[in-house]
Amino acid sequence: MKDLEQLVRPNILALAPYSSARDEYSGHEAHVFLDANENPYGSPLNRYPDPLQRELKELVSQVKGVRPECIFLGNGSDEAIDLLYRCFCRPGKDNVVAIEPTYGMYKVCADVNDVEYRPVLLDEQFQTTADDLLSACDDNTKLIWICSPNNPTGNSIDRTEVMRVINRFEGLVVVDEAYSDFCRQLPMRHELKRNPNLVVLNTMSKAWASAAIRLGMAFASRDIIEVLNKVKYPYNVNLLTQQKAMEVLSDPSDIERWMQMVLQERSNTIAAFRLLPVCKKVYPTDANFFLARVTNAQAIYDYLVERGIIVRNRTRVQLCQDCLRITIGTRTENTELLGALRQLPEELLS
Ligand SMILES: *Cc1c(COP(=O)(O)O)cnc(C)c1O
Repeated sequence: MKDLEQLVRPNILALAPYSSARDEYSGHEAHVFLDANENPYGSPLNRYPDPLQRELKELVSQVKGVRPECIFLGNGSDEAIDLLYRCFCRPGKDNVVAIEPTYGMYKVCADVNDVEYRPVLLDEQFQTTADDLLSACDDNTKLIWICSPNNPTGNSIDRTEVMRVINRFEGLVVVDEAYSDFCRQLPMRHELKRNPNLVVLNTMSKAWASAAIRLGMAFASRDIIEVLNKVKYPYNVNLLTQQKAMEVLSDPSDIERWMQMVLQERSNTIAAFRLLPVCKKVYPTDANFFLARVTNAQAIYDYLVERGIIVRNRTRVQLCQDCLRITIGTRTENTELLGALRQLPEELLS
């Protein structure tokens, strides 16, 4: 890996971050807060929240097995994705490499930040190799994006290839593990100590059943996390989100039960889907959705929308022609989907 000073944008390296009222007194036992122009009435929402979310990070640390100083929390993973561009990629100069197809936000944030995006097409099994990814890189490649399990394909990317990329690449490797809770593999966050150029993304939006609160996580070396903290908005995670996340993370019993139900439903739904006349292929999945090739994705998508059932049409995505991405719902929802597909008019089968 290059020195972090060579990877961080020079303006970010030189940046003096905004110092909030709550940053400056830290360490003292304060009880009168006349520093932030808050209203003294209306506790607790009258007060600015902890900019570094210390209490929540302690809990995340216990749940995830990552030290608090190696955790960044943001307004969804999307904040971490955007911040990585803003901290490491010089607009108009630097570039990033990503597997293709994958999660759309990596490309959108690259475009917003005027950073060249270099997609590397997966093979027929939706796999890649370290050689393929590294040969797309040059001296100005700052980030490599690897989503695993990958969205929209559902499969995990071969772990030995991911480790090879991390070992050989001079910049940062971002492994987005939004769906790793649904997968049996050892999560990549446990590789952080040995790999200073690794950044792992997690989210509360999928397995943790909290998409509405907007809480995403990045795990990385203390030095990388310090760079992200310097650039983020001071109060990027609001108090209601911090409180709700503490509640969910401190009693994961519902989550574990729901995960078991989703995994059971995943195998039932896929087994039934494979028997449908519309189904050409269901791809292997390690996530809470599956990608299926069907007879005519657009027509089937439209037919389902008519019946109030919304799946994701991926037919215009590379390698995903005539594919639908289907999220696992409740048993009732999955049954309704399968029932609708069984009643499909004959002419949609070709
Ligand atoms: C859903 C998803 C996320 C989650 O994004 P949030 O902003 O945390 O809701 C991140 N990465 C991938 C690949 C996803 O599919």
